[in-house]
Amino acid sequence: MVEPVDKRKRRVRHGMVKERARILVVGGGYVGMYTALRLQRRLKPELGRGEVEITVVTPDPYMTYQPFLPEAAAGSISPRHVVVPLRRVLSRCRVIIGEATAIDHAKRTATLTTLATAEEGTGTEQLSYDELVLAPGSIARTLPIPGLAEHAIGFKTVEEAIGLRNHVIEQMDIASSTRDPAIRDAALTFVFVGGGYAGVEALGELEDMARYAARYYHNVRPEDMKWILVEASDRILPEVGEDMGRYTVTELRRRNIDVRLHTRLESCADRVAVLSDGARFPTRTVVWTAGVKPHPVLAATDLPLNARGRLKGTPELTIEGTTHAWAAGDAAAVPDVTAAEPGTDCAPNAQHALRQAKVLGDNIAHTLRGEPLETYAHKYAGSVASLGFHKGVAQVYGRKLKGYPAWFMHRVYHLSRVPTFNRKARVLAEWTLSGLFKREIVSLGSLEHPRAEFELAAGGKHHLNPGDDTKGSS
Ligand SMILES: Cc1cc2nc3c(=O)[nH]c(=O)nc-3n(C[C@H](O)[C@H](O)[C@H](O)COP(=O)(O)OP(=O)(O)OC[C@H]3O[C@@H](n4cnc5c(N)ncnc54)[C@H](O)[C@@H]3O)c2cc1C
Repeated sequence: MVEPVDKRKRRVRHGMVKERARILVVGGGYVGMYTALRLQRRLKPELGRGEVEITVVTPDPYMTYQPFLPEAAAGSISPRHVVVPLRRVLSRCRVIIGEATAIDHAKRTATLTTLATAEEGTGTEQLSYDELVLAPGSIARTLPIPGLAEHAIGFKTVEEAIGLRNHVIEQMDIASSTRDPAIRDAALTFVFVGGGYAGVEALGELEDMARYAARYYHNVRPEDMKWILVEASDRILPEVGEDMGRYTVTELRRRNIDVRLHTRLESCADRVAVLSDGARFPTRTVVWTAGVKPHPVLAATDLPLNARGRLKGTPELTIEGTTHAWAAGDAAAVPDVTAAEPGTDCAPNAQHALRQAKVLGDNIAHTLRGEPLETYAHKYAGSVASLGFHKGVAQVYGRKLKGYPAWFMHRVYHLSRVPTFNRKARVLAEWTLSGLFKREIVSLGSLEHPRAEFELAAGGKHHLNPGDDTKGSS
């Protein structure tokens, strides 16, 4: 347990310890990792010594480079290379694997559940801090749609991306081996809900991968598969502008992808996707990427939230009306000082999160040194999106690109952005190798059942056929 603030302050007053600011970073994503990295470079903390002590609390020991998830799902990048190991990158920080469940900023205390508290059965522990960086990001914005919680999958984590890849290939295997046309049809129908980055890129990459994989199946052809994109508004990919969004619809339809605008998913109970336009698709795959909402932990704090549940941020990346509390990224509504219309907030995307983290780190250092704060100002530069191998769409600084040039730009941009030289080199090596050799189309779904083989050997049932008692067979 960490020493309470009052006790520590008493010891500082009596000269027993040197005052050392304790910075708590909640979240190890874009904002959390880059802020800690910036602070680590500027303030040179040393574990147990130095001017500051930085603690990062996050559920996973890695930061996920989310823009690469669609390529990880398609098999162009291996899952290990889309994540950045926090302990290696933040070697001067203390990394705690756990979650903040509540924050009492008035008392400068966070309540945590960690791997240790779970293992020891002690429930929670309290952690005191002097400066708080709150960056838990966002979670999927779901709706009370029948069957959604039971059957759909999101696309925000590396586990979901790899799970979905394995699932799609497994559906092709089922379709190839079943004699039941209804099972085959449902297995080869893939429904994606939400036409933002995540949905369009995931669908574009997975359809491309499945089209390629089909050449290795004697009885599954690309035209046997149904890929459906359901979007409630009148456009997709708003990030690349209206023209490029329209181009993306045309391009996806040219690939035989059924893009349905002004349409909502109404139910996916009993493995049938029912749409608001009356269409019904028996399917075993519903991918939900219809937007994000701020992380629920924000509601368990005494910090101010706006109507949408995001932290009220300032252009200096402090939290409005507070001292020593900072926020950025998807969790915070940071005013966009470059916007023509006053009152506009920065969009929740990586472009802002990364740049905000750098200013945030610098501003904490300025505060500790009694220097004036910087203002965050970044004019949105545009976006790049991949729609499959050699296919893409982009709008950058007003320049519109499509097809191969956009795809190439997407790769160059993200290669330059993925954290650490080590990751850049590994991703580049993988792209080069996949250009020389054929794509990997194997499903490693059985990784999710690592004990299955041993259980069978030890006299259990086969996980593919639990009713089959194989103990008696020779
Ligand atoms: C598939 C996909 C593709 C994308 N592509 C692009 C793109 O091409 N360009 C672009 O600009 N943006 C893109 N984005 C959006 C971008 O990734 C996010 O805007 C960005 O990650 C936000 O950064 P963040 O630090 O706020 O949140 P995150 O990066 O999500 O980090 C939040 C972190 O907080 C942790 N956390 C959550 N709860 C707690 C808790 N209670 N206690 C402690 N830690 C907690 C999480 O585990 C996570 O590590 C994409 C997103 C997705 C899902």
